[in-house]
Amino acid sequence: IASRLPDIGTSIFSIMSKMALDHGAINLSQGFPDFSIDEKIIHMVQRYMLEGNNQYAPMPGAPALRNIIAKVIENTYTHTVNPETEITITAGATEGIFAIIAAFISPGDEVILFDPSYDSYNPSIRLNGGIPIHINVSPPDFSIDWDIVRSKISSRTKMIIINTPHNPCGSVLHEKDLRALEQIVLEHNLLVLSDEVYERLIFDGIKHQSVLRYKALASRALAVFSFGKTFHATGWKAGYVVAPEYLTKEVRKTHQFIVFSVNTPVQLALAEYMQTRDHYESLGTFYQKKRDFFLEHIKGSSFEPLPCNGSYFQLVSYKNISKKGDVEMAEEITKKFKVASIPVSVFYQDRTDNHLLRFCFAKMEETLERACEILRKI
Ligand code: PMP
Ligand code: GLN
Repeated sequence: IASRLPDIGTSIFSIMSKMALDHGAINLSQGFPDFSIDEKIIHMVQRYMLEGNNQYAPMPGAPALRNIIAKVIENTYTHTVNPETEITITAGATEGIFAIIAAFISPGDEVILFDPSYDSYNPSIRLNGGIPIHINVSPPDFSIDWDIVRSKISSRTKMIIINTPHNPCGSVLHEKDLRALEQIVLEHNLLVLSDEVYERLIFDGIKHQSVLRYKALASRALAVFSFGKTFHATGWKAGYVVAPEYLTKEVRKTHQFIVFSVNTPVQLALAEYMQTRDHYESLGTFYQKKRDFFLEHIKGSSFEPLPCNGSYFQLVSYKNISKKGDVEMAEEITKKFKVASIPVSVFYQDRTDNHLLRFCFAKMEETLERACEILRKI
C-alpha cells in the first residue's frame, strides 16, 4: 500500500525518549517537565469528575475555559477576543496546528516555514496536499531574512508558519519581525499560523511578540497555544487556537471531525485554576532560573551554549568535542554517557547539520546537576 508519508518515520522525540529509557540515561531529550504539577489542579480535575462532568464538552470547548482565556489575552496582549466565536479548545497545540492546516490548505497551496521547524508542520501540510516551502535559518541567532521570504512568495502561497519562542532554537522574534511579517501578509493576502506554545517561557525581560499584539496581523492570523507548556502538564494534551471569527469558523469544521471536543474535567479544572494569575505570570522567572542553572553547571565542559531567550530548550555546540554528525553524537552520548538530547539536524528538511544538540531544561535542579556533571566529563 502506498504511504502518504514515505519519508517519515517515528518522531525523534519518541526515539530519543525510548533510547533514554532503554539505556538508563537522564532524559533531556523530549520536552516535558520531570517535576510534578500543582496538586491543587489535580484535585480540581478529580472534583469535576466526581461531580459528574464526564461527558462530551461542547465542540469548541467549555465556555468557562474560553471566557477566562479571553480575559487573560485581553490582560496580556491588550487584544479583545470574543470567546464565543474566536477561541477553540484543541487536543494540544498539535491538533490545533493540524486543524488549521486542514481547514485552509488545499492541494497545491504553498506554505512557507522556517527550518529548524517543529516536526509536525511539514507532514500536516503534506497530508492536506500542500507544498511546504522550507527556508533555512542559521545559528547562532536563527534570525529570519524577510527579503528571502518575499523572494519565496508565489501566486500559490497561502500561509506562513512562525514559532516564537522557538523550539528547538530558544530564539524569539522581535517587533521588527512581526512588522515585516504583517506587511508581507497584507500585501500578498496570506494567512499566518503562529505557534506560540512557549508564550510564557520567555526570559531576560523580553516581551513575547504575539501576533495578537498587531491588529492588522491578528486579522489574518491563527495563534496556537498549549496548556501542556503553561501548566507543566504535557500529558493532558490540551491547547487552543485564537483567530478571528471568519477563520475560527473554518477551524471548527475540521476540529469537529478530528476529535470533536476535548477532555471535559481537564477543561473545567484549567478554567478554575487560571483564575489565579500567579502560576503563569511567574513561569518566565521559573524557567529562566532553570536555564541559568543549566548554563552555570555546564560551564567548564567542552559544550558551547548558544543564546537562549525562550522555550525550555538550550542548544549547545559540540564542535570542540567531535566532528561526528549530530544524530550519531546524540545516540552516543545517550548510550555511552547516559544523557539523552535531541539532534538539531532532524528539524531541517535538508538535514543541515550544525553540530548542535538540544537539551531540555524543564527538569528538577538535581536532574540538571547530574546531567551536567556527566556532560562536563565528555
Ligand atoms: N509546537 C511546538 C513548537 C512545540 O514544541 C510543541 C510541543 N512540544 C507543540 C507545538 C505541541 O504541543 P502539544 O503538546 O500541546 O500538542
Ligand atoms: N514538543 C516536545 C519536544 O519538542 C515533544 C512533543 C512530542 O513528543 N510530540 O520535545
